[in-house]
Amino acid sequence: MSSSFSSEEAEEKASTSTRDAYHSEKDATSSPPAEFSGSIDQSTELGEGTSSNLAGKSSIKETIIDQSIISEEERQSNIEFFVGRGLKTPERYLKIRNYILNAWLKSKPKFVSKTSVRPGLKDCGDVNAIGRVHLYLESIGAINIGKDSVKKEKRPVKRKSLDETTKKSSNSIKRKGKSEDGDYRRGRENLNGTKENSVEPTGGSYDPFRLVPPHHYTSRNPAPFRVSVSTNVMLLMDFHAHLAHTEIIGLLGGHFFSDRELMEVTYVYPCKSSSTGFQCEMDPASEVAAREVFAEKGLEFVGWYHSHPTFDPQPSIRDIENQTQYQEMWRREDGVEPFIGVIVTPYDIEHDSNVSRFQFWMSGTNYDLSGQFRTPYSCQHSFLQNENLPEEIFSQMTGLVKEYHNYDQRVNMTESYRKDEVVSRLDKLIESLSSHITVSSKAAETFISRVRELMNTEFRPNKNEEESQLEIDAPVGKESILS
Ligand SMILES: [Zn+2]
Repeated sequence: MSSSFSSEEAEEKASTSTRDAYHSEKDATSSPPAEFSGSIDQSTELGEGTSSNLAGKSSIKETIIDQSIISEEERQSNIEFFVGRGLKTPERYLKIRNYILNAWLKSKPKFVSKTSVRPGLKDCGDVNAIGRVHLYLESIGAINIGKDSVKKEKRPVKRKSLDETTKKSSNSIKRKGKSEDGDYRRGRENLNGTKENSVEPTGGSYDPFRLVPPHHYTSRNPAPFRVSVSTNVMLLMDFHAHLAHTEIIGLLGGHFFSDRELMEVTYVYPCKSSSTGFQCEMDPASEVAAREVFAEKGLEFVGWYHSHPTFDPQPSIRDIENQTQYQEMWRREDGVEPFIGVIVTPYDIEHDSNVSRFQFWMSGTNYDLSGQFRTPYSCQHSFLQNENLPEEIFSQMTGLVKEYHNYDQRVNMTESYRKDEVVSRLDKLIESLSSHITVSSKAAETFISRVRELMNTEFRPNKNEEESQLEIDAPVGKESILS
């Protein structure tokens, strides 16, 4: 690694997403759109337990939990207690959960608020973690069920059980941004393996898919730390994002230097596809495996990345919830939360350049106007220039190709990238990758030709795709725009 760019250079080299986000900042700071005012009202309603809230609740059947066991679904939804981190142990989860369940059994049908259980759980760690368990129990209908009760929580329930969410009609999901992402997003799973298409209990305007343009740190509201990312990390995240029409996901390793208020991101752990073939599922095993690799390499777990295949690299509300959960999990005693998110948009055909768009971001300390989520902030980042391309990068790429080549949402690299252009998706990929390569031109050439070879031999479209491709636009994809 060499020293990082000067801030001007970094800004120059920084992804265009930063510039685009600047343009959209006006949107982020101006008065909330109509659907937003709706959600503010919704929160108030929830706080007072109005009829609409009660009507929604009364139809839900109470879930009975066996207090001696922890189900897999629970484990996944409360992952912070199951990754071997400090005082957050499965025993502690059980203690918090059972305490809340018993409080509910005693006070039923009067609702149990998270504030009311805190005094009895004084030795059980931070109140946010207790709040999340409370929220989880509520979301699955294990507590606070019934039409005669008054609900006290101000914030809407984030998650519901899988049954509840799948019953919910998909037409409640509306998105801003481009619509090309199609239906696949609806089944997307979040970091904890719970379904992304959850809705608030009243079926109101809470929309987990809405994209939120990040704000920018200023001299009056400065970033809590600087971020420096190695060019090889950019390379691997970008490569991963190009392989699938669906969102991909992975974790980031590096170091946080509190004395210098600096985070260095130096390692990518792409998450493997789940048994359902859906890459966005981040099961606990995957996270545990990543942490083992980080530990072996002496790295800290410093962030996560995912792709928005064709739409703006701005976090959705669900992304913000995931990010916030991680930040809270990693909060230090001095209040700093050294954990970042990265969003990659590889295939935005309206973007002039073939270089992918990147957004580095985190949740700020302030809440959004709706009070539903912490305001996202764009993180300026500089680059650590890798002086070589270690073999490990290429073997990670080969691993990803193996992982995705039979995936039904795999990108066909031989197709043209933009309609009526000779540039193939492979050419587009290569051009984007080249923008992250800082090694000597000889080494870069060798590397690029190896990647091209890898894609041409191991990531071929299957027979059916090739035949239909021949009928449409046979000549496409043979010429490189770089060579
Ligand atoms: Zn997202």
